[in-house]
Amino acid sequence: MPTYKTLETSLVHAGTPEPRIEGAVSSPIFCSANFESKGETSYQDLGYLRLNKSPNHLELHRKLCAIEKGDAALVTASGMAAISAGLMCQLQPGDHILVQDGLYGGTFTFLTEDLRKWGVEYEFVDGGDPDSWGNRLRKNTKLFYLETISNPLTRIPALEEAVEFCREHNLISMIDSTFATPVNFQPLTLGFDLVVHSATKYLNGHSDVLAGAVVGSTELVQKTLHLQTHLGATLDPHACFLLNRGLKTLSLRVKQQNSNAAALAAALESHKGVDRVYYPGLKSHPDHERAQSLFKGYGGMLSFETNQDVDSVFRRLTIPIVAPSLGGVETLVTRPAHTSHAGMTPAERAKVGIADNLIRVSLGIEDPDELINDFLDALS
Ligand SMILES: *Cc1c(COP(=O)(O)O)cnc(C)c1O
Repeated sequence: MPTYKTLETSLVHAGTPEPRIEGAVSSPIFCSANFESKGETSYQDLGYLRLNKSPNHLELHRKLCAIEKGDAALVTASGMAAISAGLMCQLQPGDHILVQDGLYGGTFTFLTEDLRKWGVEYEFVDGGDPDSWGNRLRKNTKLFYLETISNPLTRIPALEEAVEFCREHNLISMIDSTFATPVNFQPLTLGFDLVVHSATKYLNGHSDVLAGAVVGSTELVQKTLHLQTHLGATLDPHACFLLNRGLKTLSLRVKQQNSNAAALAAALESHKGVDRVYYPGLKSHPDHERAQSLFKGYGGMLSFETNQDVDSVFRRLTIPIVAPSLGGVETLVTRPAHTSHAGMTPAERAKVGIADNLIRVSLGIEDPDELINDFLDALS
């Protein structure tokens, strides 16, 4: 298999079967649940779809390795399948893990309800305060779980310090890099052990597939694959095809989303209908310097507090869609107090900095001027 020097070229070409199947420029979808035996003797090597061995899976695995700079990769039926299998396969009852505050809601409830029931203890730490981590360690601490950019306030934990801390204390470092994408940041190159993605978001990028990914060392990915084949959350070959197609334009999309977000953040920051903007690319953001030193781009997610009536703003917007999820080509808006963080009381929300008038924006790839004017009109 050829390797390519740049992310952009890898996104288009890496992983393509050699030789191309019947010369097809776009790899066909393999609608086969099983494949003829070639003398395999181990269960994990059987030509059966749940074991992730179809040509569509293998192509994606090779591409994901190339773009995240991992030794091995696995696609899964959703981001939560990647996260749950990636965590469960490293842990057993009696283990303890450290987890960054402000996690994605699904991961939060998986840890606090499901993993807890299976006897795994956890402790939340302030990802931005490395000095506070040491005295949370226990003899049975196995793993530190972080997210590159938090939802919805776009905070960035002390990533370099986290890698060092894990090395020093012999912990597995695991990170959800959904919001950053490999275009803006490649956690494995900084020293993280395992990266997970909700490929539903930027990696696929067209709001039409549910998928997840795990990338890292061969040992950790093999462990995840082993458990995932038993849990059975295998990505369907049709979804593999769509994800592979989406990945080809990841860099183009994310660069446009980065620049749309930067332009909108700047326009909102000077608008009288806006009290505060959270975007790592702004000098006013508490983690701006960290983002500047670690990231190639500041991402396509931002949030802001408005002093206007949120429902009226939503009604007046004509381009963005009021909808959950993120990372697609369409600009989406949500109100976290009524969606992702609706399960918390206003006081709990206030404690973690999520105001009731906070609006989260997932930037799409629309024309920036047309989009910004739509926001400014809706806010005045
Ligand atoms: C959406 C999301 C997930 C969950 O992914 P699914 O594909 O919905 O299972 C996990 N982490 C982050 C940061 C997400 O945005």
